Amino acid sequence: MKTNNLTIKSFRDSLAKREISAYETTKLFLDEIDESDGKISAYLDVYRDEALETAHNADLAAAKGEKLGLLSGVPIALKDNMLLEGKRTTAGSKILKDYIASYDGTVVRKLKEAGAIFLGKTNLDEFAMGSSTENSAFKITRNPHDLSRVPGGSSGGSAAAVAGNMALASLGSDTGGSIRQPASLCGVVGLKPTYGAVSRYGLIAMSSSLDQIGPLTRTVEDAAIVFDVIRGLDKYDATSFDPSYGDDLLNPDLKKISGMTVGIPDEYFGEGLDGEVAAAMEEVIAEFKSKGVKFKEVSLPHSKYALSVYYIIQPAEVSTNLARFDGIRYGTRGKSAKLLDLYYDNKSAGFGPEPKRRIILGTYVLSAGHYDAYYGQAQKVRALIKSDFDKVFSSGVDVILGPVAPTPAFKIGEKAANPLQMYLSDIFTIPANLAGLPGISIPVKGRGGLSTLLGAGKLPIGFQLIGRKWREADILGMGRLYER
Ligand code: GLN
Repeated sequence: MKTNNLTIKSFRDSLAKREISAYETTKLFLDEIDESDGKISAYLDVYRDEALETAHNADLAAAKGEKLGLLSGVPIALKDNMLLEGKRTTAGSKILKDYIASYDGTVVRKLKEAGAIFLGKTNLDEFAMGSSTENSAFKITRNPHDLSRVPGGSSGGSAAAVAGNMALASLGSDTGGSIRQPASLCGVVGLKPTYGAVSRYGLIAMSSSLDQIGPLTRTVEDAAIVFDVIRGLDKYDATSFDPSYGDDLLNPDLKKISGMTVGIPDEYFGEGLDGEVAAAMEEVIAEFKSKGVKFKEVSLPHSKYALSVYYIIQPAEVSTNLARFDGIRYGTRGKSAKLLDLYYDNKSAGFGPEPKRRIILGTYVLSAGHYDAYYGQAQKVRALIKSDFDKVFSSGVDVILGPVAPTPAFKIGEKAANPLQMYLSDIFTIPANLAGLPGISIPVKGRGGLSTLLGAGKLPIGFQLIGRKWREADILGMGRLYER
């Protein structure tokens, strides 16, 4: 049996008919990790024995004819900023290198209840700050399609695990693009849900008004399945909410979807967009047109400020969220007897350059005398960015289409020395985070995706769909229309 053309959907159908065993399948993924991860470095920890044991139990349940969970026996990887009880959770940082999670995050609990199997934890940029997974304190993850290139970030390990056939699906987190951008660069599907659709309880907080957890999968249908499992109201996250999705989520009415209108924002197709990416977008638009979808040119005039706004609000929230990592309650601890020296030593040794940069920036924009000019002003512009989207969605446009990242995967080291260059990787993904809207990255045909998993020759390119708040069903449905 081969696992590289398996999907969650096909796996589950075969498991129910007992044509496939969860144990065998899990073992194949673990063998692939043994074989390939020495080169790719997607994983920080692998739970071989436990994964096989859980898989064996899933087979026993299937043999007894028990009702299978939505993810029964499905081998999944977790970004290492999500808590799994009893397991090391590092957030890619030295300051948490020996931290053992004392409880399950809500997404983890839901995955367990649905029967998923955890293969291990994946590498990430330190505290999810970055766009290339080069900022991890432990190792650099490589793009399975070309080992000299980055997988994107910060969920680079999660994207590389799925693209490299080392997991059937994974979870990532997206604060400014960290699910969608690595999905685009690795040729897998990545969904960032509406802010509040998935509980953040048990996710190591980076920027609390922007962080969202979501799936990375091989198909849009699989993304819908995982999303359906992890979403929903949670008493441990006051921003969580449960709209009613009805049938639309898992069984979209594709006829209705093909009657929708897609907005093309002028601002997403200008200067800075790589020619190959632009050409790929044209192909996608042509394909949707051939399926009856209507297009309309729209404008998001304030999106040009999105990056600047993000790099005020995000570091401000980082500086408060990361204050708890003082090496006393968590993390590596120095020897000084004086409290302030101890803080200084612990943080100097524990945090890498990117968290330090953001903490300094964030502390500055929140400080008395600068607060109004930076933080207050950024919040006002954030409101304008949101209202741009509201206007577009109230003008008869159902979904917005554009690129995910300005370029395909870049070379390792190419942008590492230039933070501004790196920040530009998220220019098309950040607006959806600021506005709290759902967004998805879908591989352009022939450039990643199931059919070309593991090396198509060409570097993957994803296209992005952004939907109305709580309308994941629209972007997932539109994605399935494309995929069909
Ligand atoms: N690359 C962006 C940053 O560094 C986004 C990261 C993310 O979404 N986690 O902040």
